[in-house]
Amino acid sequence: MSACIDPVVGKILAGWRYDISGLAPEMRGDYEQHFAACERCRSRQALHRAIDLSLIVLASVSAGIFLLAFGIIHHFAPRHSLILELIALAGFAMSALIWLIVAVATPAPMTMVDIARLGARHVHDRLPPEIRERLPEELRMKLTGS
Ligand SMILES: [Zn+2]
Repeated sequence: MSACIDPVVGKILAGWRYDISGLAPEMRGDYEQHFAACERCRSRQALHRAIDLSLIVLASVSAGIFLLAFGIIHHFAPRHSLILELIALAGFAMSALIWLIVAVATPAPMTMVDIARLGARHVHDRLPPEIRERLPEELRMKLTGS
C-alpha cells in the first residue's frame, strides 16, 4: 500500500469520505488533482463508493425480501398471521429507513442535485431575454448565483 502523497489534503478528503461531489466546480480543482496524482486516495474513494453502493443494494434487497414475506404470509394466512405480518412490515420499515439513511449520508443525492442545478442553469441561459427578465429575482439568483 503506497502512502498518501500529501497527507494534509488526504486528511481533508478522508473527513469527507473522499466525496467532493458537493463542492462547487471551481473549488474541486485541487482535490481532483490530488485524486489524479495520489493512488492511495483514489483507491480509498473507490472503496467508499463501493460501500455506499452495496449498502443501498443490500437495503433494497432486504426490503424486497420482507415485502415478499409479508405477501406470502398474507396469502397463506397461517395461525398467528397478524403477528408474522407485523414482523414482516417492521422489517420492511427498518430496511426502508436504512436505505434512506444511506441515501442521505452518501453523495448519490448530492450528485443528482448538482446535475439538476446545471440543467436548470442551462435552460435559463437559453431563454429569450424578455422571458428571463420576468423570472422572479430570487429564482434567478439561485440559478446564476449572481
Ligand atoms: Zn492522497
